[in-house]
Amino acid sequence: MPDAPPRHVLSLSGGKDSAALALYMRERIPQMEYVFNDTGKELPETYAYLDRIQDYLGKPVIRLNADQGFDHWYDVYGGMIPSNHRRWCTKMLKLKPFETFIGEEPVLNYVGLRADEERSGYISHKPNITPVYPFREDGLKLADIERILRDSGVGMPPYTEWGRTRSGCFFCFYQQKIEWLQLKDKYPDLYEAAKVYERPYPGSGNVFTWSQGESLEELERPERAAAVRREAERRRANREETRADLTLAEVYANRFAPPSEDDDAACVICTI
Ligand code: SF4
Repeated sequence: MPDAPPRHVLSLSGGKDSAALALYMRERIPQMEYVFNDTGKELPETYAYLDRIQDYLGKPVIRLNADQGFDHWYDVYGGMIPSNHRRWCTKMLKLKPFETFIGEEPVLNYVGLRADEERSGYISHKPNITPVYPFREDGLKLADIERILRDSGVGMPPYTEWGRTRSGCFFCFYQQKIEWLQLKDKYPDLYEAAKVYERPYPGSGNVFTWSQGESLEELERPERAAAVRREAERRRANREETRADLTLAEVYANRFAPPSEDDDAACVICTI
């Protein structure tokens, strides 16, 4: 008996590259299954953005939820806030539900890594999942992604309008300090919700922070916040100064790329 044809699955993160890839693949792979790994801690506007994408695609974006949410695993891990070296959140809330959804059938998993970026993506170790990179294969770069989103009417993810550079959980530890302050400006209630996790954990008394080296309470103190904002503005001005030497696509990349962040280390399933 011949092997069954593979399923085609594309994971949306709420970010621009996976959104553009979904639009790009709509006509090419009509049988595509679109999924969103929902941690339950996403930015409110991400859901509205997914609805816009879904309307354009004309088919549902399937929401995948873990059996147990963030707070359950936070307790299991003894109140340990996730970090780059303790990335249990991605594993338990994104990867496991995705792999459960995939099952054991052969699957082509479409990933929105672009032709103009070096980072490597999360690739499932499950042998039945084969990653596919259409933007890389077709040479599509950042400017192409922006054009696809603009021409479709879907547009860029809303969080880019207020300075955030990543999709994913509102409290994602990959945020720069200036992004934490922007979160506080835009969603003060979510900033407060993130602070709750920095309290001493009952029983052990362990304290972890989201942002390296300081708590959110320390970060929001007026003098400290002003210094972080000044530094962010200085960096932005420096980038503007070098604009004359850059191509348009590079200028755009600078505008949306975090200036001091290690993209390779980030979770592609959360942010692409
Ligand atoms: S977005 Fe950030 S906090 Fe959320 S699952 Fe991904 S790495 Fe973890």
